[in-house]
Amino acid sequence: TIKIDKVAGKSGIAIMGGTFDPIHNGHLRTAVEVLERYQYSELRLIPCFQPVHKGRPGVTPQQRLDMVRLAISSHKNLKVDCREIKREGPSYSIDTLRDIRADIGPDEPLIMVLGMDSFLYLSTWHDWQSLIEYAHILVVSRPGWEPDLISELSAFCENYRAFSSHELQCAPSGRVWFETLTPLDISSSMIRALVHKHESIAYLLPEPVQRYIEQHQLYR
Ligand code: ATP
Ligand code: MG
Repeated sequence: TIKIDKVAGKSGIAIMGGTFDPIHNGHLRTAVEVLERYQYSELRLIPCFQPVHKGRPGVTPQQRLDMVRLAISSHKNLKVDCREIKREGPSYSIDTLRDIRADIGPDEPLIMVLGMDSFLYLSTWHDWQSLIEYAHILVVSRPGWEPDLISELSAFCENYRAFSSHELQCAPSGRVWFETLTPLDISSSMIRALVHKHESIAYLLPEPVQRYIEQHQLYR
């Protein structure tokens, strides 16, 4: 059974992992909308050290981290969590969730935010069936990605789907929920490609991040 007793006040920690190569307004708008809708106390962006399912990023972990910091510096409830970068090696989400759960204790709601594109591949992640023991999974819409779930994943969703989004604010873990957000068809790959072609990336990502890319001549 699920406890629904924490109504007053903000509770819950949302986390959003990614390569952030570079961070852009699709990530940031997702983070802000999740925070506002769910009234979680904070949302932590967690840049990976080494992505497990894609090639090596073109810039260093430190540079990706710098850009995340620049992007969120003026937003009070957006935080950056460096544990994957400090841990080094391949960044498995299950290790990160276990770690955070140990930090925050058993009762605090923990919500892992995933874009639909990432969620569709969840069953290829290391120890994926255990993720839900440590956190809720909040799947957010992403332009171009429909919820065409393979049978393994749809069975998973049937098993763990929340009755209402409220459960993600009350229970500590164990529920899956889908949310439609403002569609922003922006990706890091698109930004890297634009820089490579010497085309403008203005308004796709925060200005300080754009300046950082220019100053350090990233993605040329
Ligand atoms: P790349 O193009 O290099 O794959 P990306 O734009 O997909 O980069 P990631 O760092 O891989 O960015 O994404 C981190 C998380 O943010 C993932 O869960 C992803 O689904 C989500 N996400 C990224 N961009 C958007 C977007 N525009 N709308 C909604 N979710 C997004
Ligand atoms: Mg991606």
